[in-house]
Amino acid sequence: MINIRELLEETGAFLKGHFLLSSGLHSDTYIQCAKLLQKTRYAKGVGADLALKLQKFSPDCIVSPAIGGIIIGYEVARSLDISFMFAERNSDGIMTFRRGFDPSKFKRMVIVEDVVTTGKSTREVIKALKECNSNVIATSAIVNRTKINEIDDLPLVSLTNISLKTYTPKECPLCKDGIPLIKPGTRKIFK
Ligand SMILES: [Zn+2]
Repeated sequence: MINIRELLEETGAFLKGHFLLSSGLHSDTYIQCAKLLQKTRYAKGVGADLALKLQKFSPDCIVSPAIGGIIIGYEVARSLDISFMFAERNSDGIMTFRRGFDPSKFKRMVIVEDVVTTGKSTREVIKALKECNSNVIATSAIVNRTKINEIDDLPLVSLTNISLKTYTPKECPLCKDGIPLIKPGTRKIFK
């Protein structure tokens, strides 16, 4: 098994600073899995390790939310030798299946993400799958940043737990210290 924490550090995926999360909260760490997954050998290895943990569910298809989940979801599916598809937001921001993907053909779907921070996108994929008359049996991520081990009564499987410390903008000590606020994935600096 790969030491996922070491790999995150080594590839520069584990960022320290002052970050604006999609929830609107602030944090002093951010995990940018794209930095790890750009190393194809690591992506393959991490995918194989996560696949090992998901084998017991006997999934027939892996589904990931675009864009962050696509690479790791594909690697997990390839390792298990099963199908893969992804959900994406339409112009109204609703998680949906396009490109001819048909989740109704599968009855043992497992969701794979890179990082679960609040579980919001996982819940949106679960909802989209249910609306397509598919059946989802488990959720997973490389890194679980929540303190929970299930989402909507489904197990949440991860390779590592790195719980996230968040602050509201009002109580954020980094704001008080005047450290520039960064939205991860962009170069944009707020205030
Ligand atoms: Zn702050």
